[in-house]
Amino acid sequence: MSDFSLDLNEDQLQIKDWVHGFAKDVIRPVAAEWDEREETPWPVIEEAAKIGLYSWESVANFFGDPTGLTFPIVSEEMCWGDAGITLAILGTTLGVSGIVASGTPEQIAEWVPECFGTADDLHLAAFAVSESDAGSDVSNLRTRATFDEATDEWVLNGVKTWITNGGIDKVPTLHVVVAAVDTELKARGHASFVVPPGTKGLSMGQKFKKMGIRASHTAEVVLHDVRVPGRCLLGGKDKLDARLARAREGQSSKVQAAMSTFEASRPLVGAQALGIARAAYEYALEYAKDRKAFGRAIIENQAIAFKLADMRMHIDAARLLVWRASWMGRNGKEFTAGEGSMSKLYAGEVAVRATEDAIQILGGAGYVKDHPVEQWHRDSKIYTIFEGTSEIQRLVIARAISGIRIP
Ligand SMILES: Cc1cc2nc3c(=O)[nH]c(=O)nc-3n(C[C@H](O)[C@H](O)[C@H](O)COP(=O)(O)OP(=O)(O)OC[C@H]3O[C@@H](n4cnc5c(N)ncnc54)[C@H](O)[C@@H]3O)c2cc1C
Repeated sequence: MSDFSLDLNEDQLQIKDWVHGFAKDVIRPVAAEWDEREETPWPVIEEAAKIGLYSWESVANFFGDPTGLTFPIVSEEMCWGDAGITLAILGTTLGVSGIVASGTPEQIAEWVPECFGTADDLHLAAFAVSESDAGSDVSNLRTRATFDEATDEWVLNGVKTWITNGGIDKVPTLHVVVAAVDTELKARGHASFVVPPGTKGLSMGQKFKKMGIRASHTAEVVLHDVRVPGRCLLGGKDKLDARLARAREGQSSKVQAAMSTFEASRPLVGAQALGIARAAYEYALEYAKDRKAFGRAIIENQAIAFKLADMRMHIDAARLLVWRASWMGRNGKEFTAGEGSMSKLYAGEVAVRATEDAIQILGGAGYVKDHPVEQWHRDSKIYTIFEGTSEIQRLVIARAISGIRIP
């Protein structure tokens, strides 16, 4: 087990500098352009692949750090550059988390590299859980997976919605799909499936126009008689059959396909929100020192200076929660008080508040597109919604601290 420390080691400092350089020199200069275009920023992903930032080796290295802090640091630095572009680059890791959470070691070794491809042959991945009637209420999935014994194949049917990287076919895209094998068992009857790139029957439905993170592709994924080999069931059939049998007998089961993925990824999502909040705080601080009104810099007014003091305090507190949860998750500590949820909830809400405060500090300049703060505010809002809304995070924490299954 690794001790919790706020002193970053040499490796972490080097990676932080490397990623910050990419965010500053490559991501931020084109952030407004891709926000306006609302398209996947292929040249930036290609550049990230060229330097090795977008690769399974790098992600394995970030995940592998025994302190658990490297990936949150990377996520914060990238989102400091731009959250939409970061999600276009890191959206693949949602699919990876789905594989790692439920797959066997052999499946992880086979499918994770397939999510990234190589610098010359880019691949992407997506994690498809949500449906129009199953967002917060994941137990209500309608997408069905049925087993065809004659061919040893699973057949998937349904429509997923709001899926990051969903249905992209410009490059080979692997989808991890969570589907109901037994609808009566609700979430305990779910399983995760790898749908390899190019599988017949999977297509993109509506592509959504969004308020923020507009460089990140969000779309419906339509599954029409999608057939995948038996080996694409993550965790394997024996394990699933045993789990379903336990659930039918009324025994409790700890593993729920989608929930275990979300638990692992929440601190990372919090770290992304933190990157936006920090960008807004730094920008507003500089602006407040520069901007003059009534013959003095606006920061010389307590109303402005205290706002900045609060922004910094909340950002630092959010980082402590994110790092704690990441360290706990990596070191096998049980989240007894919903610490993963706390980190995502707090960082998401801090990002919304900090970006709004930044607009206020910039005044009229904050409301127009000459400055990036209005975009950061639009981008920040998703962090109180996806990967579990703020209300759902509060539910997780409330249940954890009370031991009561609050509805
Ligand atoms: C840009 C974007 C990207 C996304 N990417 C993905 C992805 O890659 N993969 C994926 O599977 N999904 C993805 N999602 C879906 C996302 O996870 C869901 O939108 C989210 O979980 C909320 O579900 P919902 O939209 O159905 O809201 P609803 O569940 O309808 O909730 C609506 C409101 O009711 C509140 N509410 C619901 N139940 C309760 C309760 N019990 N107590 C208190 N309040 C409650 C919610 O907090 C919310 O405020 C994405 C969404 C967006 C917008």
